[in-house]
Amino acid sequence: MTRLAVRPLPVEGESLTGYLFRLGMLNCVFRPSEIMDVLGVGKSSHVVKGWCQPACDYLFDALETRLERPVRPYLRQFERQDDLPWQRDWTRLIQDVRTGYPRICTQCVAETGILDWRWGLAFTSTCPKHASLLTAECPGCKKALTPSGTLLLGCDKCEMDWAEFEAPMASEMSDLELQLWAQLEQDPSNVDPTVIQDLCRAIVYMMRPFDSLHDTLEAAPRLIEHSAYVARAYRTLQEPEFFAQWRKQCHEKRKDLMPLGEEFLEAPCQLFRDGLLNDWSGPARGSSIPLDSIALGDELSENTRYIAQPRREAAFESGEGVGYRYQLDIASIASIKGWSEEVTEDLVGNGVFPTFKNVAQSKKRRFDANQIIGKLRQFAVQTADGFIEVDADSSAFRRNFANPGMLVNDILKKVIPGGFGEDKFLSRIFVHESRFAKWLLQQRKSATRRSVPLNKVAVALDCTEQDVRRLVEEQKLKWATHREWEKWIDGPSLFEYMICLD
Ligand SMILES: [Zn+2]
Ligand SMILES: [Zn+2]
Repeated sequence: MTRLAVRPLPVEGESLTGYLFRLGMLNCVFRPSEIMDVLGVGKSSHVVKGWCQPACDYLFDALETRLERPVRPYLRQFERQDDLPWQRDWTRLIQDVRTGYPRICTQCVAETGILDWRWGLAFTSTCPKHASLLTAECPGCKKALTPSGTLLLGCDKCEMDWAEFEAPMASEMSDLELQLWAQLEQDPSNVDPTVIQDLCRAIVYMMRPFDSLHDTLEAAPRLIEHSAYVARAYRTLQEPEFFAQWRKQCHEKRKDLMPLGEEFLEAPCQLFRDGLLNDWSGPARGSSIPLDSIALGDELSENTRYIAQPRREAAFESGEGVGYRYQLDIASIASIKGWSEEVTEDLVGNGVFPTFKNVAQSKKRRFDANQIIGKLRQFAVQTADGFIEVDADSSAFRRNFANPGMLVNDILKKVIPGGFGEDKFLSRIFVHESRFAKWLLQQRKSATRRSVPLNKVAVALDCTEQDVRRLVEEQKLKWATHREWEKWIDGPSLFEYMICLD
């Protein structure tokens, strides 16, 4: 094995991959597999996979041997970069925030010849020194950057030298991102994981700004425009006007959903806001800006790279992903309507709405809002002739173990004559007056045919569970004998008692 002609030490803030590329380049070896070969680490299993070289002992041993001096203290920064508490989080929309492809600041590379480890984090967008977006493509030929030592010099496709590249005008950088870069420099282990959680949420939502459903991804997919989307994520968290523009664009892009009620138009923004862990000024103040007082702003672009594999539909992919906007699931409908998931399950029960066929699990059932609208439209009513309008919050539901989801479902199944008011299908529910009372009684009958859990009894009687226990002591109600251990109430005794109340 020949000695390495040049044996550089790592520089503070350099990424391990970047260091290996630099070491290789100085010795005229550029490809990752060749660099590992020169280090004697072996080709087969230890080849740098594209971009992210993990810090590991066998590599450090090899480096110490080939650099011919004790270098462990210099390598420790790579271990720290590789072992940060917030790098992986299974509850986050982007679980692993390390990107698997090169993204650089060409000006920094031209000036320092170093690849900064922070460029490999999915939630950074802009170089704080040059205030320019990190790039995953050559600014000259627009081809994706290759993970190789040539990155330190320029583009290996069009041979542009980074030093010759005239940088675009510096763009504005958000305070939040500036703070994060500083924290990552001083003490990366101390970065607040809830901030990263919210940022990942904002990134995923900005990738699909007009959808109600967003998937959890293991890692950020390779996307040339990644930095631009991340810059938008910072803005939507921090700038009320930007958040308000997003709302306004949702009204425009999702106007087909108007028949379901206005709350469905702004749903992406509302769902985004509901899941945030911190109180950001963008959503907090941007939610109350009147829509007619704001400009539409630049159109937010969307892409389908952030759609999880099991949810992909060939037809949507070819149609630029517009169809994904109309997908809903139980949780999103419940959240948009302010209903519980139980009520929503009742709404969609018995297959009244078609589901997407590639989903087997009932919990993950997905629906197409256009098909829901189509189905409800068959029951559209103009006037309330012979019908009464039922308020979804009516206490009549509660008193009879029923809910608006069940009523809509029974109208669709033609169990009870009814319909829906134009443009507010899920909010304005009409039923035949005389049949409604019968329907409610029928719900109560079927709910009390068997035993009823204590908490449900308390809801129906609008009292506390303690009050229900007292009613049992007073012998107005009975415990369900076979379920005493769980404190269920005997159904028929409850039915009798409720008749006396009416
Ligand atoms: Zn820079
Ligand atoms: Zn190029």
